[in-house]
Amino acid sequence: MSWPDPGLRSRATHVPSAEEVALVAPRMVELMHEASGIGLAAPQVGLPWRMFVTCVPDADPVDRVFVNPEIHLDLCGAPPQPYEEGCLSLPDLRLDVLRPKGASISATGADGSPFELSDAGLLARVWQHEYDHLEGRLIFDLAQPVDASLVKRWRKVHDAQ
Ligand code: ZN
Repeated sequence: MSWPDPGLRSRATHVPSAEEVALVAPRMVELMHEASGIGLAAPQVGLPWRMFVTCVPDADPVDRVFVNPEIHLDLCGAPPQPYEEGCLSLPDLRLDVLRPKGASISATGADGSPFELSDAGLLARVWQHEYDHLEGRLIFDLAQPVDASLVKRWRKVHDAQ
């Protein structure tokens, strides 16, 4: 679903059951690849569930499912880094987003087993972006002041649709 669907602005609260994950995760992985994305969160497909999928070329090139993830940001290391991000739900918007470089994440996988991962590069950024979707947070919430007018122009076009 695309902006301005209100589902993108709500905190996802439902932790999907194993059955729900088995039903929905494979289709989310398909949709992610069809859209040439590297991540997709359940609220983006209209489900207020705490789940997202990723497949990040080079860094983690497998279809990975994160159910009920918990993210821990490394806030004491390097200062937040800017990096250009897009979002499948926000067509034609690309913004430099400041994020902490490092993060670790724990979640339950598609097979029901818990796992934990750490990264200080693109993966950590993707996790933060997708996790934000579960909190109803979008990249323009994290835009830098220099991009305020760009965001304003984009929203003028897209808020009404
Ligand atoms: Zn997104």
